[in-house]
Amino acid sequence: MKVLVPVKRVVDYNVKVRVKSDGSGVDIANVKMSMNPFDEIAVEEAVRLKEKGVVTEIIAVSCGVTQCQETLRTAMAIGADRAILVETAEELQPLAVAKLLKALVDKEQPGLVICGKQAIDDDANQTGQMLAALGDLPQATFASKVEVAGDKVSVTREVDGGLETLSLSLPAVITTDLRLNEPRYVTLPNIMKAKKKQLDTVKPEELGVDVSPRLKTLKVEEPAKRGAGVKVPDVATLIDKLKNEAKVI
Ligand code: AMP
Repeated sequence: MKVLVPVKRVVDYNVKVRVKSDGSGVDIANVKMSMNPFDEIAVEEAVRLKEKGVVTEIIAVSCGVTQCQETLRTAMAIGADRAILVETAEELQPLAVAKLLKALVDKEQPGLVICGKQAIDDDANQTGQMLAALGDLPQATFASKVEVAGDKVSVTREVDGGLETLSLSLPAVITTDLRLNEPRYVTLPNIMKAKKKQLDTVKPEELGVDVSPRLKTLKVEEPAKRGAGVKVPDVATLIDKLKNEAKVI
């Protein structure tokens, strides 16, 4: 069984993002970029399924600028077998990515697509769900455990007050939650091996997908600065301030 793993190149989670002075977006010039953390978990899960003998081939896919090749090389260093870059300089919104992935699912016919639950830059949490809808595929979001048996996959999800386990028929779409696994460290020999693995590039037009944005960002602004805190001498003053100044009790 093939697995398709979409990996997004995002601003590294350690970077404190800055909003552009004209409020049109986040400044990503000269900022460290990395693989979306949830996508690393997705690649790791695919590699574990391959190690168990359930999966035969892992294909990493990234949609975006030429530099997404670096993200794909990282996915291949973790253990993906080959990669596809859908190259475009256009701003890609979740619906456009879902349509591109749908075109690749039609072409590659994977048994599973394992996406991240959300990209930490736009926090959309939409692509996996949209792909499932476009492809008319069963979906299990926020997976914390995945087990494939025959033509079914059982997925455990953390829900309010407990765990829910779903059984889906393959092919299916899964999105990963933080607790699914802990991705392995990428070793130097594997980084070297990844350089030799196959990386194909296609353009959205070749997949017959119009990626033009449907949503317009009106304004991006920094959160309001927090005022300095004060020390109160005793509990009575604290209660008084909470009641009469903050008016929260
Ligand atoms: P989002 O819906 O934007 O929060 O993204 C959810 C997941 O969809 C990510 O964790 C990735 O697995 C996948 N995804 C989103 N955008 C891209 C992209 N440009 N290239 C590859 N995968 C993507």
